[in-house]
Amino acid sequence: MPFYTERKIRLKYQKPKGTADVLPDTSRLWDYVETKSRQIFDRYRFGEIRVPMFESYDLYARSSGDTSDIVTKEMYDFHDKGDRHMALRPEGTAGVVRAFVENKLYGPEYPKPYRVYYMGPMFRYERPQSGRQREFHQIGVEAFGSESPLLDTEVIQLGVDLLHAVGVHDLRLAINTLGDPATRDAYHQALVDYFAPHRAELSEDSQIRLEKNPLRILDSKDPRDKVFVKDAPSILDYLTPAAQNHFAAVKTALDGLNIDYTVDPTMVRGLDYYNHTIFEIMTSSPAFGNKELTVLAGGRYDGLVEQFGGPATPGVGFGIGLERLILLVQQAQQLPPAPDLNVYIVSLNDQAGEEALRLAHAIRNAGFTVDMDFMARKAKGQFKTANRENAQLVITLGEDELANQVASIKQMATGKQQQVPFNTVENNFQSIYQHLVEEGEQE
Ligand code: ATP
Ligand code: MG
Repeated sequence: MPFYTERKIRLKYQKPKGTADVLPDTSRLWDYVETKSRQIFDRYRFGEIRVPMFESYDLYARSSGDTSDIVTKEMYDFHDKGDRHMALRPEGTAGVVRAFVENKLYGPEYPKPYRVYYMGPMFRYERPQSGRQREFHQIGVEAFGSESPLLDTEVIQLGVDLLHAVGVHDLRLAINTLGDPATRDAYHQALVDYFAPHRAELSEDSQIRLEKNPLRILDSKDPRDKVFVKDAPSILDYLTPAAQNHFAAVKTALDGLNIDYTVDPTMVRGLDYYNHTIFEIMTSSPAFGNKELTVLAGGRYDGLVEQFGGPATPGVGFGIGLERLILLVQQAQQLPPAPDLNVYIVSLNDQAGEEALRLAHAIRNAGFTVDMDFMARKAKGQFKTANRENAQLVITLGEDELANQVASIKQMATGKQQQVPFNTVENNFQSIYQHLVEEGEQE
């Protein structure tokens, strides 16, 4: 009998809107993606950085730009008990750049380019829907200190490698350039000239954007704006020679790596800090109802370190939406089943239970996985549990075993059984396992 009785439970607490519980079966998938990602980051010589999950509101507001969706609508901000205006981080780059400046990671004692990755939760106050949560997770990278278009390309290649490593193929890479400040000024004017005659027909948000940051209109999801965005002038016609060269070099390097891409001149990205190369990797999958969704997005942000009070230092990076990636991985491939349990200890009376606890501890210290009964199950129930957990070996402890200080060990696959003194179990389980399981497998 379970100690609780089945009845309708009225939940006392529910998880906050837009958050999710990740249960062990699924977190195995997370662990898989994170482990694979770390392997790739190692190969590319990116080290892990861990920065706070909240910072001053200004940090995110200034860097993302005050017309971005993140700042105008999605910030998870609050005043702390010291009346400081704080925000939960909506994205990774701002905190990493702050850390780069604060820890003087541009100093001569640090490697160049300075390359880091992060993984962790991000927070945006959005309307929860499929693929969109208020607490979600990103894996991202940032590389500081090089203007080379080869680094843009390397970062893109890293992203593609990572997605391939977790079994996600069928990717579409879209790239664009936002050029340098002179490009932006010229393009800004062109957009104002183009959109101004249609001002009244634009969404309310975009009417404000037209004043403050017309580039943002291109990123609008409002159908009223999309009509006009379609035929908006292309930034590619306003690139300065330097911006043109940078973009051309990125494309040449991508070609050299046989990475397919399409140039999407209306792509602008949701954050103000980008310049030169920006990119998104999209995929359509049954996981998203075959709609094309972005899983990876990033670009260059050459002015940001300086804006945060550091010396002028270029940077480039990307972020991956981890929830979306997990859905894709789930769709794309079957993970190997959870590893078998090495040992289950069946105890036939209370005293045997105490002995089981001791042996379990010793066997675990030898590096094996061990489980035993804590539910006062009868012998039959314990064997059933051992089977359900796919135990390779079952140790049975009853009166005889305790009297003789030996364990009866059964290899489940073959039925082979053996009596082994407790102190051998405690001191040399490795050899027992080798004998019973590994040699058994070779037979
Ligand atoms: P969108 O246009 O879909 O709102 P975005 O421009 O806000 O995307 P980024 O800030 O570039 O997205 O974030 C990078 C990635 O993080 C996105 O491509 C997506 O996979 C993921 N992401 C962003 N917001 C959320 C969210 N609320 N829930 C889950 N994943 C998200
Ligand atoms: Mg968004």
